Amino acid sequence: MLAVRRVKCPCCGEELVVPITTELLEEASRSPTGVAAVVLSHGKERVVVYVDGDGEVQGASCAGTEREAVIEEIREVPVPSGKKPDPRKLSEKEWRFLALCDGKRSLREIAGLLGITYQEARLLAEKMRSRGYLREVVIEL
Ligand SMILES: [Zn+2]
Repeated sequence: MLAVRRVKCPCCGEELVVPITTELLEEASRSPTGVAAVVLSHGKERVVVYVDGDGEVQGASCAGTEREAVIEEIREVPVPSGKKPDPRKLSEKEWRFLALCDGKRSLREIAGLLGITYQEARLLAEKMRSRGYLREVVIEL
């Protein structure tokens, strides 16, 4: 571990420790949004923290409480295209959505982390794909 950052939980104000690893910095540098999203749990709450390639915290949002893991029969995984988004042309929600698309998380996981419905996540994915930010949504059976 390189360092830690401290960030206040936007839900309860508790101070959270964000471990900044080399892996995380590499992921942030590779990501078209320039940030990597880390999910931290404390108690039953989950918080998504966005960290840039310099290890600085660029934002944090509440992801609600941990839900029981759903067994997904079909995983739809949005894959970023590598096109750098202009943050001024994206809504806050679109930017957070893209930051969570790491080619590994499924749409359902991302929807849960953003506190939006699966339907809304699908619409966002389609919008981001048509704008060239997502290469595709891979379906894993
Ligand atoms: Zn909290």
